[in-house]
Amino acid sequence: MTYDLNNRTAVVTGAASGIGAEIALVLARSGAKVALLARRAERLAELAAKIEAEGGRALAVSADVTGDLTPAVEAVHAAFGRVDLVVNNAGVMLANPITAGRDDEWRRMIDTNVTGLLTVTRAFTDDLVGAGRDGVADLVNISSVGAHGTFPTYAVYAATKAAVTHLSANLRTEFGPLGVRVTNVEPGLVTSELGDHMDNPEVDAHLAAWREQVPPLHPADIGDVIGFVTSRPKHVNLRQLVVLPTVQV
Ligand code: NDP
Repeated sequence: MTYDLNNRTAVVTGAASGIGAEIALVLARSGAKVALLARRAERLAELAAKIEAEGGRALAVSADVTGDLTPAVEAVHAAFGRVDLVVNNAGVMLANPITAGRDDEWRRMIDTNVTGLLTVTRAFTDDLVGAGRDGVADLVNISSVGAHGTFPTYAVYAATKAAVTHLSANLRTEFGPLGVRVTNVEPGLVTSELGDHMDNPEVDAHLAAWREQVPPLHPADIGDVIGFVTSRPKHVNLRQLVVLPTVQV
């Protein structure tokens, strides 16, 4: 499905795969110019070419949300000007028992899922506030339904997503009065590469078994939701959405 996002300018982090790639596609098909941010330049170039071939506008910007975003922001501004829609989607999920003491994984998740989200938000805050003053502006954060539960071996991942959900609610109290909508989206199980970076066979097997029991959503299902929320009239802010496969309880 497409929406009316003509004259909008978006940045989607984690657009190299999965949910982020599908969000970028929906936004571009709906008329938005879309800057694609992630680390894998080749993947981004392929997606940008696909969008352009469909008649859309896309810019591939290879960047790490845990690093210096200045060159990325400059590239986006040079190509597209002011941004009015930011989707903080980049994320990593690494699961291990807490007794394994994997502080390398904890750091990666906190740096990417929480600090990276804040860094991207800060990098485009002036854009969003200006766009909210002159028209419509959206900050969309991709959290997880995991923000609300307890999951053995996923403690730190779940904590980062709880932080995203809580940050979103609080950021909205500052951005809302400035005309910037803040939407927190909490997907349930979605098919993607998210679980591919784990190194514990037991955790892998558990995730695979879960996916057998609960047929996951397709990333495009989440893309569709983002197209919907960002195309509402300016005065309508969908603050919080939990998007689950119907059989996931
Ligand atoms: P993917 O692994 O397919 O996507 C994650 C994306 O984030 C990749 O495109 C990756 O690209 C990018 N990324 C990771 N680290 C960085 C970094 N340091 N800097 C820039 N980009 C980075 O998984 P999903 O599509 O599933 O995940 C997207 C979001 O959805 C995540 O925030 C995840 O937590 C959330 N989510 C996913 C669920 C699921 O079941 N799949 C459920 C609930 C929430 P690259 O490696 O090229 O940088």
